[in-house]
Amino acid sequence: MVDAHQTFVIVGGGLAGAKAAETLRAEGFTGRVILICDEREHPYERPPLSKGYLTGRAARESVFVHEPAWYAQADIELHLGQPAVHLDRAARTVRLGDGTRVHYDRLLLATGAEPRRLDVPGTGLAGVHHLRRLAHAERLRGVLSSLGRDNGHLVIAGAGWIGLEVAAAARGYGAEVTVVEPEPTPLHTVIGPELGQVFADLHAEHGVRFHFGARLTEITGHDGMVLAARTDDGEEHPAHDVLAAVGAAPRTALAEAAGLALVDRADGGGIAVDASLRTSDPDIYAAGDVAAAPLRPGTRLRVEHWDNARSTGPAAARAMLGQDVTYDRVPYFFSDQYDVGLEFSGYAPPGSYDQVVCRGDVGKREFIAFWLHEGRLLAGLNVNVWDVAGPIQRLIRAGTRLDPEALADPSVPLEAL
Ligand code: FAD
Repeated sequence: MVDAHQTFVIVGGGLAGAKAAETLRAEGFTGRVILICDEREHPYERPPLSKGYLTGRAARESVFVHEPAWYAQADIELHLGQPAVHLDRAARTVRLGDGTRVHYDRLLLATGAEPRRLDVPGTGLAGVHHLRRLAHAERLRGVLSSLGRDNGHLVIAGAGWIGLEVAAAARGYGAEVTVVEPEPTPLHTVIGPELGQVFADLHAEHGVRFHFGARLTEITGHDGMVLAARTDDGEEHPAHDVLAAVGAAPRTALAEAAGLALVDRADGGGIAVDASLRTSDPDIYAAGDVAAAPLRPGTRLRVEHWDNARSTGPAAARAMLGQDVTYDRVPYFFSDQYDVGLEFSGYAPPGSYDQVVCRGDVGKREFIAFWLHEGRLLAGLNVNVWDVAGPIQRLIRAGTRLDPEALADPSVPLEAL
């Protein structure tokens, strides 16, 4: 039972945490809502940090989930700039960095993820960067702008979404860009080699150099400044700055120390939750990048995407209020690079599919790609084609066998399949 004297605590002030707080109030919860975040900024959205805000097209105010005044109006108690350092499940308290103890009746862990570090010599040099926070984006923006002005070189480790988006932004500033990636194509583990090549071509046309099949082994420097990036095949790329875009790790320390069930690192890690976003402790929930929710019976998937944070935060809030919640959204992601906008729905890492079918003009980068296993749709990618993510997700969810020829035929509406 939930009543007006209860206290709901949210640890993590990203999109998932902020949306959960909003939902608690929207659903009529009148108890205390406390939002704790180690960042000093009010909750903000991260996608612009590698796109509009990095390129200078989006204003700083536009990245925040709510205006600062909203939190007081909604009676959300904010502890910003305060890490939650200990979770005592028996006493139902969270201890903050300044020693304050906060009691909870229900707790939401929305602690997100943090950039993985490059484990090579030279990462302590001043010109080595990561991108997760607003302050990182602000610093990187200055770096890209001066690289562009001075014909400087940026080496990006990792051809994932963030690496590619920053490559596009850096080319916009006029910086020289080399991307080092161990796999043979960009986005390899997400979209496989067939479609990865489309993105290799896109970036090569915009002047990005790729070094595939190699790992960064050392960043050399002088007087604290970066000079070059070396790879395991003996190459050396001149560099003034290096961006490590090698993925993110879920921030599970608090949950782990408190003994909550986690998913193995090899399976993506994260806090294990059921379909109602509840952890192994019935009074503790998890949402956003840190939570690994059921994908299919017997499998859990940790989704590191904006839409997942925006939807699991509210779903967890409703579950905390005692509502019947079954979270089963199809994973969804969007990206913008140069004049290409795309949406990716579903989940189809290499090895999971046996056929890729495209409809539209891949050369012109106006197409939809479908990943199938035994005729059933696992994932779809729409590139510069709009208003199709809904029908694609319905086809994934339906799980019925599809005719590949009909899928490839633009004259057959997706709704008709
Ligand atoms: P976060 O946004 O990471 O928020 C968690 C917050 O909790 C952080 O502020 C963290 O500092 C804080 N925290 C952690 N531990 C503690 C603690 N112990 N005590 C207090 N506070 C704590 N997704 C897309 O779908 N499309 C995109 O184009 C896209 N672009 C992206 C670009 C960038 C540069 C990045 C970094 C991510 C992008 N994403 C994108 C992913 C998306 O932003 C994330 O999935 C989303 O931010 C996850 O939200 P979250 O609330 O779960 O976690």
